[in-house]
Amino acid sequence: MNTEQQINQLREELRKHNYNYYVLDAAVISDYEFDMKLKALQELEENHPEFYDPNSPTLRVGGEVTKNFETVVHEYRMYSLDNSYSKEDLLDWEKRIKKLVDGEVSYTCELKYDGASISLTYEEGKLIRAVTRGDGIQGDNVTTNVKTINSVPLKLKGDFPPKFDIRGEIVLPYEGFAKMNQERIAAGEEPYANPRNTASGSLKLQDSSETAKRPLDCLLYNITGNRLGIASQFQSLEKARDWGFKVPAESKWVGSIDEVLDFIGYWDEHRHDLPYETDGVVIKVNDLQQQEELGFTAKAPRWAMAYKFKAEQASTILHEITYQVGRTGAITPVANLEPVALAGTTVKRASLHNADQIEKLDIRVGDTVFVEKGGEIIPKIIAVDFQKRDQASEPTVYITECPECQTELIRKDGEAQHYCPNYAGCPPQIIGRIQHYISRKAMDIEGLGGETVALLVNEGLIANYADLYELKKEQVIPLERMAEKSAENLIVGIEKSKEIPFERVLFALGIRYVGETVAKKLAKHYKFIDGIIAASEEELVNVDEIGIKIAQSVIEFFASDENKALVTRLQQYGVQLEVSAEKLANQTDTLQGQTFVVSGVFEKVSRNELKKLIEDNGGKVSSSISSKTSFIVAGANMGPSKLEKAKKLEVPIISEDEFLGKLS
Ligand code: AMP
Ligand code: ZN
Repeated sequence: MNTEQQINQLREELRKHNYNYYVLDAAVISDYEFDMKLKALQELEENHPEFYDPNSPTLRVGGEVTKNFETVVHEYRMYSLDNSYSKEDLLDWEKRIKKLVDGEVSYTCELKYDGASISLTYEEGKLIRAVTRGDGIQGDNVTTNVKTINSVPLKLKGDFPPKFDIRGEIVLPYEGFAKMNQERIAAGEEPYANPRNTASGSLKLQDSSETAKRPLDCLLYNITGNRLGIASQFQSLEKARDWGFKVPAESKWVGSIDEVLDFIGYWDEHRHDLPYETDGVVIKVNDLQQQEELGFTAKAPRWAMAYKFKAEQASTILHEITYQVGRTGAITPVANLEPVALAGTTVKRASLHNADQIEKLDIRVGDTVFVEKGGEIIPKIIAVDFQKRDQASEPTVYITECPECQTELIRKDGEAQHYCPNYAGCPPQIIGRIQHYISRKAMDIEGLGGETVALLVNEGLIANYADLYELKKEQVIPLERMAEKSAENLIVGIEKSKEIPFERVLFALGIRYVGETVAKKLAKHYKFIDGIIAASEEELVNVDEIGIKIAQSVIEFFASDENKALVTRLQQYGVQLEVSAEKLANQTDTLQGQTFVVSGVFEKVSRNELKKLIEDNGGKVSSSISSKTSFIVAGANMGPSKLEKAKKLEVPIISEDEFLGKLS
């Protein structure tokens, strides 16, 4: 088998496994095997740019950056939908239909997926373009981002028509959404409000490798085009499925409005069992001939109708407003409610977000309130039932002191949240910071859990994370539920954390806005904690991907003598506060500020070694040529399209030897 055949075979295999995993939800090989095949393909493609394919499975990891999304006019307009809310509405709609078309009318019932609508164009079975809905007439070209979504086929299978558009909804399933939020909270950031806005925001990220990290899914429901050889909506769903698209199986073909109502009734109750958010049902005239006769109004098709589920609401009584203090000192008011059943769970508490929200709702203790559960994980209070308000009630006065340490709260200009500034002495802040320090993605201290941390703090054994390293087994054993063995494990776990690399220690320190990725960037750039401590705001902002908000937060953290003392102590205990000598031995900043694109095959080093050399010496590797590229390192067989682009942008091309010369 020659290289081209090998590449094609791997692409075909990966496509199939990708389909099994992301569309059918039924993997036949392990993640590891998949990764190995992907790696093999990546390597072959890198060494043979002449076999470049814009729809190769390797492109799913993203990397291309879009500054401005190009506006594209939809070949077929993307309409909105009319809404209905009752059986009467639906019967009226059927009457109107029957006046306009002949013969029996049957319907396809589908779920109304709540995400961001998208139109995909395929030609000869290949994804050509992905465009957002925009105003329905024109939208944004978000192809590079959409290509990273695993359930969007880049190449189709079966007997697809030569050219068509297919429409669907890009959603962020609950599970992935919850995971993203956990990570944000771990970085001390505000969680995203709901899956829908996060999904549509994800399509407009400039760096497609960021989109690739988001667990998005694409659900399809409509095929548009000429001479497609399809007779009905239900058949079109089946065909799309055959071609490799993800088309949810819940859709149903029914003969009457009564059956439509059965479908609505069933899903109104069971929709919470689905992995993604839905906000209603869409009913479509099944026969495409009849659809054509019915046509469109100025706004929506006459052959389709949405039926919106009522967002599930309940009314209950507000007993008390309590205030939680997070690890960064942020105060969150919480409504404590008379327990009430809502969307399959019992709701006892709801977030009130901040003081503005309380004022806006004019919510008072004793009020009867309406709670709603949308995509948010925590239910929210949408309104007060003013008719039931006790005339003697008093407006809520927001607390002015921390409920945990009685320090006067502050509120920075332009921020909605109040903060407790007692950084060093406020118990939930102290406990929260240590809990963050020991968490899995930070120092990952085995044998020590969040509750034990609280216990250790409350017993006065520790007051910060540096104190952990002074703990003795004998001090821990007397604690509640602490056997000798577990005390030993705890001490061993703490000891072992001294091996955790610098970048994770930096994350563990709990500097606001310094999440895992930012910590990595800073560690790589500065290599020693001292460099970060000494850096000015201006210097920090010059580090790739560090914005002003992060820079200020880093400065603020190290401006505190207490924090500096903590870091010094960690250093003394042997915690890694610099990039390890081994890693460092091979690093310089000779290539600082330079961006390289690597293309072709090399003689003295492999492509991967070359890339590592660039990064270890402070340079940046990029996959595509742009005006920002400093040099292209070209080996044998550099791809012709790259060559052309390099010439056009006047980017200097250097050889392997010339590159290595820079480092010697
Ligand atoms: P609306 O935004 O309320 O006008 O509803 C119209 C939108 O519903 C369309 O733009 C689609 O993005 C979305 N939608 C979700 N699921 C479906 C579906 N099964 N069929 C048609 N449209 C749908
Ligand atoms: Zn406090």
